[in-house]
Amino acid sequence: MNFDFTEEQEMLRESVIKLMARHAPPESVRKWDRDRAFPEDLYQAWVEAGLLRLPFPVEVGGLGGDALDLALVVYELSRVSADLCMAYSGGVFCALNILRKGTPEQKAYWLPRLFDGRIKFVIGISEPDAGSDVGNIHTTAVRDGDHYIVNGQKLWTTAAGLKNAVICAYVKTDKAVHYRKGLTHILIDNDAPGVELRKLGMLGRRCVGTYEVFLRDTPVAADRVIGGEGAGWDCLMGGLQFERAVSAAGNCGGAQAVLDLAVKYAGERVQFGQPIGSFQAIGHMLADMQSELEAGKMLTWRAAWLAAQKRDTLREITQAKLYTSEMYAKLANMGVQIMGGYGLNEEFDMQRYFRDSRSATIAAGTSQAQRNLLANLMGLKSR
Ligand SMILES: Cc1cc2nc3c(=O)[nH]c(=O)nc-3n(C[C@H](O)[C@H](O)[C@H](O)COP(=O)(O)OP(=O)(O)OC[C@H]3O[C@@H](n4cnc5c(N)ncnc54)[C@H](O)[C@@H]3O)c2cc1C
Repeated sequence: MNFDFTEEQEMLRESVIKLMARHAPPESVRKWDRDRAFPEDLYQAWVEAGLLRLPFPVEVGGLGGDALDLALVVYELSRVSADLCMAYSGGVFCALNILRKGTPEQKAYWLPRLFDGRIKFVIGISEPDAGSDVGNIHTTAVRDGDHYIVNGQKLWTTAAGLKNAVICAYVKTDKAVHYRKGLTHILIDNDAPGVELRKLGMLGRRCVGTYEVFLRDTPVAADRVIGGEGAGWDCLMGGLQFERAVSAAGNCGGAQAVLDLAVKYAGERVQFGQPIGSFQAIGHMLADMQSELEAGKMLTWRAAWLAAQKRDTLREITQAKLYTSEMYAKLANMGVQIMGGYGLNEEFDMQRYFRDSRSATIAAGTSQAQRNLLANLMGLKSR
C-alpha cells in the first residue's frame, strides 16, 4: 500500500498553491467575500493554467488527469476558499457529464468553450419542491420544432449569475411516465430570453452566489439536450457521484485551513500568562480536529483513487461526502470556539470558513440523504 502522491501530483499541487498565492491573496479573498463579488481574473488564471482541462482526456483537448488529480486541485483551491472553488468544481463536474453522455458534435462544441473560459457551467437540479426529492422536478420543456420551450423555476443554483454561465438544467419532458424516464438534461444560457436570475442572501458562499432562476417560455435549441430526451436521470446520477467525491476534497481543504488558523492562533494568543494552546482543553480540541481531518482525508483520497482506477466507488464516495462535510462544519465550529470573539470578527478569516462550511452537510445531497443511501447499500431499504 502506497500513501504517497506521485511526483506529478505534488508538482500539480505546488503549482495551484503558487497560483492562488499570486491571484487570490488573503486580503483579496476577504474583500471579494465582503463585496459578494466573484473575481473573473482569478477564473481566467485557472483557465490559463489549464485547470479546467485537467481531468479530461487528451483526445478532447484535456490534460488527461484523473479523479485524484482533480481532488488535489479542489483541495488546494478550497484551502483558500471553498466558495471560490465552486466556480471551478461545478463547471468541471457539468462538463464531465457532456464527456460521458454528449454526442461527438456536442463535445466538440461545448468542451473547448469551457476549457478556454468562454463559458462556465453551473448545475440546475434543485427547485422549490425538489430538494432531496429530486424526482419531484416541475420545470418543463416542451418540444416545438427544433427548440424546446422551458418553463419553471430552479433554486439554489450556485454561480448562475456569473459571466457567460450556462445552466446545466434538469427538466421534465414527459410528466406521464416515471420521473426516471421523464427527465431531460438541457443546457440553457443564463441570458437566454425569459431567464430571470435573483441572487439570494445566504450565510456563506457569497462570491459565487446562490441564485433563484426563473424560466418563462425560454426557447432552447434541441441540440442542447445531453444524452437524449428522457435520459436526464442517468446523467444526473452519474454526475452526482462525481460531485460528491470532489466536494469531499473541498471539505478537507476548508477543514485544513481551519485547523491551520486555529493552531496558529492557539500558539499566539496569551491568557493567564501562557498561550491558550498550552491549556489542555484547547490542545485536546486541536488534537481531535487534526485526527478527524486526517480520517476525512483518508476516506477522500481513497475514494478518489478508486474512481481514478475506474472502480465502483459509490459506497466510498458517499462515506467520504458524509464524513468530511460533517467534519468540516464541526472543525469550523471548534475553530470559532478556539478563537473566542476574534473567531466571529469579520477582520479574521475563521468566520468566513465557518459560514462557508455550513452548507457542506446540505449541498450536493444532505447528510441524511447520504445515510439513506449508505443504509440502502447495506441492504436496509428506505423509502
Ligand atoms: C449553498 C448551497 C448551494 C447549492 N447549490 C446547488 C446547485 O448549484 N444546484 C442545485 O441544483 N442545487 C443546489 N443546492 C441545493 C441542494 O442540493 C439542496 O439544498 C439539498 O439537496 C437539500 O434539499 P432542500 O434544501 O430542499 O432540503 P429538503 O430536501 O427539504 O430537506 C430538509 C431536511 O429534511 C431532511 N430529509 C429530506 N428527505 C429526507 C429523507 N427521505 N430521510 C431523512 N431526512 C430527509 C433533509 O436531510 C434535511 O435535513 C445548494 C444548496 C445550498 C445550501
